[in-house]
Amino acid sequence: MGLLFSGHMDVVPAGDFSKWETPPFEPKIRDGKLFGRGAADMKGGLAAIVRAIESVKNTQLKRGIVFVATAGEEVGFDGLRALIRDGIVKDHEAIYGIIGEPTSLRIVRAHKGGTLFRVTIKGRSAHSSRPELGVNAVENAARFIIGLTDLRKLLRDMRDPDLGFTVLSATIIRGGVKENVIPDSCEIIVDCRRIPHHDQRYISSTLKQIGESLKSGQTGLELTIEEVLSYDALTTSENHPIVKLAEEIVGGKAGVAPYGTEGPLYQKLGIPTIILGPGSVEQAHTVNEYVEIKELHKAEDIYKELIKRVCL
Ligand SMILES: [Zn+2]
Repeated sequence: MGLLFSGHMDVVPAGDFSKWETPPFEPKIRDGKLFGRGAADMKGGLAAIVRAIESVKNTQLKRGIVFVATAGEEVGFDGLRALIRDGIVKDHEAIYGIIGEPTSLRIVRAHKGGTLFRVTIKGRSAHSSRPELGVNAVENAARFIIGLTDLRKLLRDMRDPDLGFTVLSATIIRGGVKENVIPDSCEIIVDCRRIPHHDQRYISSTLKQIGESLKSGQTGLELTIEEVLSYDALTTSENHPIVKLAEEIVGGKAGVAPYGTEGPLYQKLGIPTIILGPGSVEQAHTVNEYVEIKELHKAEDIYKELIKRVCL
């Protein structure tokens, strides 16, 4: 096949409906904009892809088109992972991949990978009047987090020319049972955004070292680290033919994005992929989400031109 077009059909929750000026699940057009949850992220992109494909339905193509509409993208790319696992989307299925996520019609060819870790710390409870009898899981979580911030500084030793530095942060902490009890358990979620130089095994083993050094000083302390979710970096080169072709059609230079997409899963199948779609990522996941109708038409034209150049 020539081109693989991809987009996700799921949306994030609309949150508090009362904050929306229009009902989030009833598309409304006003001032040249279509409002609703998923308008930008990414029903708009899907619609533009479908229209572009429809335009060649009676045309003899030199190379075919694959259209992949996924579910579960917002919760860890579950839908696409299943399609790949079941052999429905295959290795080298197409020469190039296009994902219609909202980029304001700018070309994105690279982004960081990411991993979420769950760190579980188990200690021993005791009456808070006798802390020496317990092993305080919350205080050990605090020590772990200090280790994390040291690691974040260390990771600045390696800078990717496209993507900058690997960063990581503790984003959730849960622990403690009662005001006067030395807590015996605490959980931390660590969100890591990785440059290609740092794979998740490297980060995971470094986190484990922090855990080991905490444990070595104390008996009765347990610390486990699990990977909750992981995705790779997208690294389509700036000189790749699909980047050059898209730049020629769109009339702008390709860049990088701060967020993750399904792109790396296609990349792993040997399908060099770019992200290019209507709507702004600033609209994604917010109230009063919208996409400009004008941009939908432009996206449709860009996709048509890509089809023309690659498939006709
Ligand atoms: Zn999206």
